[in-house]
Amino acid sequence: MALEDLFKKLVSHCKEYGYVFPSSEIYDGLSAVYDYGQYGVELKNNIRKYWWDSMVLLNRNIVGIDAAIFMHPTTWKASGHVDAFNDPLIDNRDSKKRYRADTLIEEHIEKIEEKVQKEIDKARAKFGDAFDEAKFRSTNQRVLSLQSKIDEIHARYSRAMKENNLAELRQIIIDNEIVCPISGTRNWTEVRQFNLMFSTEMGSTADGAIKVYLRPETAQGIFVNFLNVQKSGRMKVPFGIAQVGKAFRNEIVARQFLFRMREFEQMEMQYFVTPGTELEWYEYWKEKRMKWHLALGFGKENYRFHDHEKLAHYANAACDIEYKFPFGFKEVEGIHSRTDFDLKQHQIYSGKKMQYFDPDKNESYIPYVIETSIGLDRMFLHIISAAYHEEEIEKEDGTKDMRVVLRLPSCLAPVKLAVLPLIRKDGLPEIAEKIVEDLKFDFNCQYDDKDSIGRRYRRQDAIGTPYCITVDHQTLEDQTVTIRYRDSMEQERVPVAGLREIIAEKVSIRSLLKQL
Ligand code: ATP
Repeated sequence: MALEDLFKKLVSHCKEYGYVFPSSEIYDGLSAVYDYGQYGVELKNNIRKYWWDSMVLLNRNIVGIDAAIFMHPTTWKASGHVDAFNDPLIDNRDSKKRYRADTLIEEHIEKIEEKVQKEIDKARAKFGDAFDEAKFRSTNQRVLSLQSKIDEIHARYSRAMKENNLAELRQIIIDNEIVCPISGTRNWTEVRQFNLMFSTEMGSTADGAIKVYLRPETAQGIFVNFLNVQKSGRMKVPFGIAQVGKAFRNEIVARQFLFRMREFEQMEMQYFVTPGTELEWYEYWKEKRMKWHLALGFGKENYRFHDHEKLAHYANAACDIEYKFPFGFKEVEGIHSRTDFDLKQHQIYSGKKMQYFDPDKNESYIPYVIETSIGLDRMFLHIISAAYHEEEIEKEDGTKDMRVVLRLPSCLAPVKLAVLPLIRKDGLPEIAEKIVEDLKFDFNCQYDDKDSIGRRYRRQDAIGTPYCITVDHQTLEDQTVTIRYRDSMEQERVPVAGLREIIAEKVSIRSLLKQL
């Protein structure tokens, strides 16, 4: 199946099975804003817990906070967001559609890269084992000419972004004959800067309302509380502060479902270190965070680091962890070495010292910071797209059937087990209800007695329930039930009395945390 079709199916699956709904859908929705349904919220809570526990539970020197969304407006002056949290936008006069100029250019480069890849694939198919990709790249005329085009655009683009040269960005679009995907024309406006922060007013106008912003990142709530936490928790550098919370960005082009939203949640951790040690800690957190992703079991080959070529002025190292989404490798998490930029800025703007007294060195300094920043919703999209599978299966009567299954890691699955009486009589429902009543204190359980057992299994597969417990006539005789495994569809007979232990072992987040 084409990856785009797969992605469309995933979006409708999320809606049909109570994972994600468009926001205020009865009014036709609100662009790039989504609501999580009954299963979505559980999955999201579990991802959040996996992240939180990996930071706060496993590290004695990392603590969590929950700062407010509204912050004093000077925060955003100090952080640079008021002046520089901009994207370059461009409009197409014919379609009236708005684009990010940088994205248009990046996508154009990607298209040329795809052409190169096609040539390589063709040659590989032709030459088989004897194919030498490096040699082909350095000798094939067509590939060489495409590659030199890529290099040329890339060099111009990097320079223009570095110098904030909006006219040059437009010129690159014109020179490369990039067209609007909707109208197909090159009738472009000038490129303008657009600030991504949402603002509103606080207080009544009579009192002199002040303009406040909805935070575009959670990190600043950590920086402004740095001394509060350090002093009240008697924290010694190196130490970290973790936070999960909403962030808001007025994204110009919001698309790809949960990938780019206007209201989303971030999970961020700022790690405060002694100046001069930051690059060691940067490497440390790169490795730690990659481990966190790999523990989910979605395959090493689907992740990669992408080093930032163009560093923000305050960073001395930065990379992304990218996951292979159905629409290509894209960022899920950023790891940044932010120097002492933020604390220093807050010291300047607030007039308050943001220094740490180091008892070992007997001196005060502003710590350097390593940040790990991951989007909870983007992680949700990553997990659900990795988990979604369509499979052909054989029914008991030998005919073929299709099943959609969410192969979610058991510890993240919204419902851990479904208890199903084989038929709705002979006392089987009562036994099944009792099992649910017993286990509901430990796990999110479901009871289902409607439709054939096969259809009930399909429903649980579609929401990703890892275990189905079936109560049948043998249960009446020997107090055993079958446990059916979602992924293998194999069944096993186990005693009712042992269920709690068997399931607990399999669905605990502990199994993930132990791998870190
Ligand atoms: P991008 O380049 O994709 O716009 P960014 O580099 O601006 O992302 P950061 O500011 O580093 O992103 O934010 C950290 C993380 O927050 C990202 O890795 C991503 O997972 C998440 N994130 C950022 N913007 C959005 C958004 N609009 N919707 C959902 N998640 C987002």
